[in-house]
Amino acid sequence: MAGMTNMHRRTFMIAAAVGPLALAAAGRGSSQASPAPGSGDVPAAPPRPVLEVPVIGRAAWGALAARRGLRRHRPVRLTLHHSGVRLTEDASAPGMVRQHQRWHMLEKGHPDIDYHFLVDRRGNVYEGRDPSFRGDTQTDYDPTGHLLVCCEGDYEGSAGAPQRPTPVMLRAVAAVFAAASQRWDIDPATLGGHREYTSMTSCPGRSLQRLMRDGSVESQIERLVAQQDVHLMTLDGRAGRRTVRRIERS
Ligand SMILES: [Zn+2]
Repeated sequence: MAGMTNMHRRTFMIAAAVGPLALAAAGRGSSQASPAPGSGDVPAAPPRPVLEVPVIGRAAWGALAARRGLRRHRPVRLTLHHSGVRLTEDASAPGMVRQHQRWHMLEKGHPDIDYHFLVDRRGNVYEGRDPSFRGDTQTDYDPTGHLLVCCEGDYEGSAGAPQRPTPVMLRAVAAVFAAASQRWDIDPATLGGHREYTSMTSCPGRSLQRLMRDGSVESQIERLVAQQDVHLMTLDGRAGRRTVRRIERS
């Protein structure tokens, strides 16, 4: 994200460290019925395992309602961003997501939070803008067709060393992109960092962009897509609120 200068000046509430990423693998396929006797000699293909990725719903993290002005699009490529705001206390991640949305809507005048999904350093995934609507940007590229995922943290290190991506965060990012790839039939090879589309930003920062260049995130997405059905499971209501409380208290 570019244009975050004012965000840097703000003081964010800092709390304690956070609970574990929950990527739940569910072997649901095993409950599928075998063919009835006499129904043919061709054995059914082995069921594909299902990976369920919990996504903290908007109501659970305290999103403002989206405003008018959203534009429909179909995601055809995968694009990674970072918030550019150093996140050292994992418990403050939900608060950061709320701050981003308020920044995008109230300061920048966008109809909703810019990104479709946000991922914190513990691999918690937050529901952002409805992916059937085009995201927004504070730079000069056109985000139409881009499925936008934002990593919480500063991976450029504008003031000091860049934060290092955590393995659980990268796993969650790959899982969200894999689910999008399956849902909209998007080639994982379309994966890129924000800076590949504009010279106005270093986003998603050098320590994440390195993983775009070396293909490691792309191959993680490809592996997931090849091996399992990846489902995003929105945590709403009580389950969502409980998850947010657990993160904020940890
Ligand atoms: Zn960006």
